Amino acid sequence: MSAPTASSGCPASCARPTDRAPPGGPGGPTDRTAGRATPSPPPPRTKEREAMSRKIAFIGLGIMGSPMAANLVKAGHHVTGFNLTQPPIDALVAAGGHGAGSIAEAVRDAEVVITMVPADPQVEQVILAEGGVLENVGAGALVIDMSSITPQTSIKVEAAAKEKGIRTLDAPVSGGEAGAVEAVLSIMVGGAASDFAEAKPLFDALGTTVVHVGPAGAGQTVKAANQLIVAVNIQVLAEAVVFLENAGVDLAAALDVLGGGLAGSTVLNRKKGNMLNREFAPGFRIDLHHKDMGIVTDAARAVGAALPVGAVVAQLVASARANGDGSLDHSALLRGVERLSGREVG
Ligand code: NAD
Repeated sequence: MSAPTASSGCPASCARPTDRAPPGGPGGPTDRTAGRATPSPPPPRTKEREAMSRKIAFIGLGIMGSPMAANLVKAGHHVTGFNLTQPPIDALVAAGGHGAGSIAEAVRDAEVVITMVPADPQVEQVILAEGGVLENVGAGALVIDMSSITPQTSIKVEAAAKEKGIRTLDAPVSGGEAGAVEAVLSIMVGGAASDFAEAKPLFDALGTTVVHVGPAGAGQTVKAANQLIVAVNIQVLAEAVVFLENAGVDLAAALDVLGGGLAGSTVLNRKKGNMLNREFAPGFRIDLHHKDMGIVTDAARAVGAALPVGAVVAQLVASARANGDGSLDHSALLRGVERLSGREVG
């Protein structure tokens, strides 16, 4: 599956330096975050911090993984990172972490392994495949997958790990790149309560809303609902923006006052700047949201829940992708509304 590239419909404003390999669709390696984890020196180590410090392997240093790994270093942990490309590993080392040349090397002595990769195929590759986490990590380790994937794959990973005496949690996140950088993510966790309790201090270094929502796969189910809510919100915000602009209203003023009333939302606060400035560098790629709309559509069908509005928005996300906007931030759903309204696309 070939992914559309930013260049196929991206305004100059969305260009951003990147070290990434060619994109390969929703699962494709992107690595656009090289050097994003601002290398600040690690804090001084005290005996107390030393005692709390865990040996963590972090696989997948992308837009989200890079700042998350850096925050774990800041919290005093011994973090060894591995990624498909080298620059984000170098950035982690500059931030006080350690680098590895393979998954095997990264997880060899790890007490906790965290994975943050694009989608189901990469999670299966990293955790289950030959040379992957389960083959190389010690028994008793805790493997926490923080990627957004299907609940079924989380359950499959849990079963495969159990056979080797390895515990797992699915712990997808919400809050975007800014939430990862600022360590204010929402983290929804599926798995055993005792494993959640063990991992809680690590989650607290990454986020501010950390909730155990049920057994294996439950974190992913809640994340799927999150992605449904976010996509629908962005779509209607985009529709309001085009409506307001066509009506000749001052858009910035309108969004300010809307933000203070019942129409206000985190999506409006976080995405209005993107829409006002037509600034669509990701953030969260439309390719990934397309993947997530597939997850929520399947998961809802499996439990007999109808998602009529979600189904329409899933089609609009697919359309954005088909029009070459897959590499842009999901706020670029605005471009789809512009197309539908016969407007020049910004
Ligand atoms: P990304 O594409 O920026 O990063 C993924 C990283 O995984 C890349 O650096 C890539 O090199 C690495 N990777 C892929 N396969 C690998 C392998 N086999 N071995 C080692 N590394 C490998 O993606 P992202 O935006 O950081 O998203 C990661 C996950 O988090 C996705 O599931 C996404 O849906 C979810 N998520 C993203 C955001 C966001 O705003 N970007 C927010 C919430 C959740």
